[in-house]
Amino acid sequence: MKFPKLRVFLSKIEYNVRKLQGICGREKIEIVGVTKGCSAITEVAKIMVKNGIKILGDSRVENIKRLRKNKIAAEYMLLRIPMLSELQGVIDYCDISLNSEIETILALEEISKKSNKIHKIIVMFDLGDLREGFLLEDIDGISRNMYNLKKIKIIGVGTNLGCYGGVLYTPEKMGKLIDIRRQLESRLNQEITIISGGSTASLSLIEKNAMPQEINQLRIGEAILLGQDVTGNRKIPYLLKDTFILQAEIIEKKSKGTVPQGIIGRDAFGNIPQFIDKGVRERSILAIGKQDCQIDNLEPLDKRVKILGASSDHLIVDTEDTRKNYRLGGFIEFQMGYSALLSLTTSRYVNIETVD
Ligand SMILES: *Cc1c(COP(=O)(O)O)cnc(C)c1O
Repeated sequence: MKFPKLRVFLSKIEYNVRKLQGICGREKIEIVGVTKGCSAITEVAKIMVKNGIKILGDSRVENIKRLRKNKIAAEYMLLRIPMLSELQGVIDYCDISLNSEIETILALEEISKKSNKIHKIIVMFDLGDLREGFLLEDIDGISRNMYNLKKIKIIGVGTNLGCYGGVLYTPEKMGKLIDIRRQLESRLNQEITIISGGSTASLSLIEKNAMPQEINQLRIGEAILLGQDVTGNRKIPYLLKDTFILQAEIIEKKSKGTVPQGIIGRDAFGNIPQFIDKGVRERSILAIGKQDCQIDNLEPLDKRVKILGASSDHLIVDTEDTRKNYRLGGFIEFQMGYSALLSLTTSRYVNIETVD
């Protein structure tokens, strides 16, 4: 029993995968199972593949390399636009990459030739979110430069919304992508079979029966891992949420005042803290901190426990109103959002335990 502990409920993640496979399958949409949200935990990737997902997507070549080494049999898609400095790794370990720079694609072509390997790409377009992607006016340049690729196979076009700009997926945005496919097909004189229409946030289009039938791929992480959609600001009603639970150990439990005593300077992160006097209350200090976790993205399972604050290694919670008798050496449990999951699985101080 080592704390802090992140418990991964595999059967709940499996439930989400199956549910989404059903919903997307009916629309003839292939799911790329995105693992980056949990730093590509091998057992999670395994569950995805076991339930029919054929392509796994991650943003880091390291994660893909490790999953391959652990013999998870899938096609691998690199989600982050490749760095020029990592292209050999991209060709060696990734079957598909998302791309938005002609220079990078031409460099990938050269390395593919040297390695004598075919590499598939999805050409990304920015439809307004201002993260990755070519602009519409780049279609000319793409056509001129990518007409003659030998080892790079353009298999699709794609877009990513809802990440930087928080732009929502709409039928109109999807229509643009379909139109881009048509233009590229005619300019390059080749078939482009995949239209990769986004991420978890795209699911709402399917639910509203508003997903154009040409869209045949979605890259889905958050919905599988956490049953939620941050961009759409919602818990997805037909998916399970308590898939990952954090347990943090209590290292101090005392009743203390709620307003610090002394001259107030700055807290450990340079902010000036503000306090409301609620008298003396019971509080517990837990052995986890900002070094391990995006604390404000945690939610205590016991609704009567309130997070008061955190420093690098300590999380302070108010346990005055709880009906449970938390004791020193015991633990308090938390649900989490995407950024907490991301940080917890990245921290080397957090122990991951999978539960079947
Ligand atoms: C992270 C990512 C996804 C998956 O997003 P979720 O919100 O986790 O479904 C899809 N596409 C790209 C390019 C990504 O970087």
